[in-house]
Amino acid sequence: TIFPDGRTLQIGTVHNLGQNFSKTFEITFENINGVQEYAYQTCYGMSDRVIASIIAIHGDEKGLCLMPCIAPIQIVIIPIWFKGVKKEINKEAEKIKEELSDFRVHIDYREVRPGSKFFDWEIKGVPLRIEVGPKDIENNVVTAVRRDNGEKIKLGRENLKAQVKELLAKISEDMRSKAWEKFRNRIEEAKNMEEAKKLAGERKVIKTYWCGKEECAKSIEDEISLDILGITEEVKGKTCIYCKGEAKFTVHLAKTY
Ligand SMILES: [Zn+2]
Repeated sequence: TIFPDGRTLQIGTVHNLGQNFSKTFEITFENINGVQEYAYQTCYGMSDRVIASIIAIHGDEKGLCLMPCIAPIQIVIIPIWFKGVKKEINKEAEKIKEELSDFRVHIDYREVRPGSKFFDWEIKGVPLRIEVGPKDIENNVVTAVRRDNGEKIKLGRENLKAQVKELLAKISEDMRSKAWEKFRNRIEEAKNMEEAKKLAGERKVIKTYWCGKEECAKSIEDEISLDILGITEEVKGKTCIYCKGEAKFTVHLAKTY
């Protein structure tokens, strides 16, 4: 993926192991001719770099911003206490928690100002905050606030579960498309070395074309001070950015972690 500073992070890997390990462990299969053969293996790896990516890609100046599917707490309920109605508000908060038992919900009963609570849960990236105050009870609503864009929404008390479910789905979808948009905007095509150098200065990930010769790859990396991230796909009708010969592959260039 691409981090906000324009450098790329390799999250997952795909390896073609061939028959190396199946020979060692004697993993065989019967082929179409009834002959035993060593199996061909591939291996896919994902590491805790995924967590670093989540923090960097979705986080903002307020802190973490977690997608509902992975958030340990999806909804935090903040009771807004006023003199004389504390008990009633807590009762309502418990009722809401029970109605939303399909989700991971936490009620923050700490004896601190609501503002401090908002701040704490924003840092931790809880996707949705629900505020319950005397006015909300009076109007038969709750106040929901999205972590991803700060939007404040009044939800009617009827069918709260369905409304919250829809809202969390919307948050996920918006976060996903926002991240993809940022990703795509980072990649730009360079047709020659001058363009590539200019884009490198703008911290872009560069899409370009390469003939397949190692000396060209080395010169490209040296002169632009970026790494070739690997071959993206085979290509026809394009010229190598360095030698101007026929290009065989599309490649991406970037600074990497
Ligand atoms: Zn070349």
